[in-house]
Order: sequence, then structure tokens, then C-alpha cells
Amino acid sequence: MTYKALQSGLRSLQLEIFGAFHTAPEDNAPSGTKTLLLLGPYEPGFWPHFTASPEYLDGAADPLDRWSKRIITPWANSQNASAIFPSDGPSFAPFIQWAKNSGRAWGSPVGLLVHDVAGLFVSYRAAVALHVQIDLPNTGQNPCITCSKPCLTACPVNALTGEYDVARCKSHLNTPTGKACMETGCLVRTACPAGHSYGRLPQQSAFHMAAFNPDDPTPDPDTPR
Ligand code: SF4
Ligand code: SF4
Repeated sequence: MTYKALQSGLRSLQLEIFGAFHTAPEDNAPSGTKTLLLLGPYEPGFWPHFTASPEYLDGAADPLDRWSKRIITPWANSQNASAIFPSDGPSFAPFIQWAKNSGRAWGSPVGLLVHDVAGLFVSYRAAVALHVQIDLPNTGQNPCITCSKPCLTACPVNALTGEYDVARCKSHLNTPTGKACMETGCLVRTACPAGHSYGRLPQQSAFHMAAFNPDDPTPDPDTPR
């Protein structure tokens, strides 16, 4: 079992390794874990792949979570590993700490996690707990170090200035000028140059925004919730 072989198998499922690390007891990984993989969408192409799936098309709740479980659980089992999902809980697995442990994600100036490749659009579909220690590639570099920090001024209502003011954000989203965030994604996340080359589509962001703000008074009929 090698990192490259695992990555290749995951990419064929439109998934990517967003980070990996060798676990220690204090990491709260499942018993017997030696290496933890963190999985995210593989771009470009994730959105058209997912929107052709039965989970997206059946109109039932939580299509992305259901797709993730259907695809990732059997793949993990095929590696004699187990899959852990961010939505499993309570108690929920410490994905943010795991992300930081991977050396490929950091706390950003706006408080959200930022990833070396996906920027502020980072999202983890699952973790996979391997019972073997595999060699891992070098980690990335924190993109904030050399950045002019457009994230700090991108929110029109200053809802993300270190501590996320969710109420302020949602009140803006439900006004006509909030449509920009609802239709193409959070302007703070969009402003982050670290994720610009990773191929995230506006439709994908609109899907997540609809899930985040189901009270949108004028929802897009083509975006499932
Ligand atoms: S915009 Fe720059 S400073 Fe802000 S999270 Fe992205 S890389 Fe970091
Ligand atoms: S979604 Fe829009 S209003 Fe909310 S934090 Fe992001 S930029 Fe601000």
C-alpha cells in the first residue's frame, strides 16, 4: 500500500487526499489507526460527477453526505480501513484538529481553516483510518504567509473578522444584496487566492449556501436543499 496507489484509487472516485498524518494516542483516531487520510473533492470535475449521482437526483435530504457514505465506506473497507464522517455524531470527530495535524491546513486571519490547495473552500468529505503506517509526501506551505489578505475585507457586512457572526451573515444573505453570496458562494472564501486554481464551481458553492441558509426568501429552484 502506497500513498500514490491510494491517491490513484480515490481519484477514480472523484476524491482527493487533502491531508494525511501518522497518528498519536492524543489524536482521538479509532483504535489501531496508524495513518489517517483526510478526503476532499477531486477537482476539476467533482460537481458534474456528484450531480449525476442518485443521491443528488432523488430529491431526498443530505445528498452529499449520503453520496460520501456510499462511495467512501466500501473503498475504506477494501483497504481494511474504516471511514469516519464529519456528520457522524455526537460526539463528532475532531476534523479541524486532524486537518491542522496534516500540515496542509491552518487557521486563517478570518478564523476559518485555509488549505494549501483548496484555500478557504476546503471541505472534508471523510477521514479514513488505516491500520498501517505508509510513507507520506511533503506537506504544503501556509498560503497566508505571503498573501495580501483580501479575505479580511471581502465580507460586505464584516461578519467574518476573526469570530464568525453567523446571525449577521444570515441577515445579509436574506436581502437582495446577499444574492451574490447565495449564488456564487461566500465572498470571503471566493476572495482567497489559495483556492483559485482548484476548480470549484459557483453551482457547488450555491449548493452549500442553500444548505447553510435554508431561509433564503427567494431560493433557486434548481439548487437542492
Ligand atoms: S485570502 Fe490570503 S490570508 Fe486570507 S485565508 Fe486566503 S491565503 Fe490566507
Ligand atoms: S456568506 Fe457573505 S455575508 Fe456571510 S460571511 Fe461570507 S461574505 Fe459575509
